[in-house]
Amino acid sequence: MPKPKTLTCQTCRSRELHEPLTPDEKKWLEGQLGNRIGDDFYKCVNGLPDGRICLNLRRHSVEKHFALTKRLPDKKE
Ligand SMILES: [Zn+2]
Repeated sequence: MPKPKTLTCQTCRSRELHEPLTPDEKKWLEGQLGNRIGDDFYKCVNGLPDGRICLNLRRHSVEKHFALTKRLPDKKE
């Protein structure tokens, strides 16, 4: 299982803690992309001023994997 890492975030424009995707999040992203993905996708867990979590997605090896930035949907809690 991949571990959290500090990586650059395209949205925050700084180095922030990123966590690997949970199985549910991975399934969601695979649905979005229409293909299976490996374990190298991470989400930014930096807190934003409005109280949300950034949730911008990137690959470990590629900062700008998506042509436009892509983030996970906010959880319905
Ligand atoms: Zn971020």
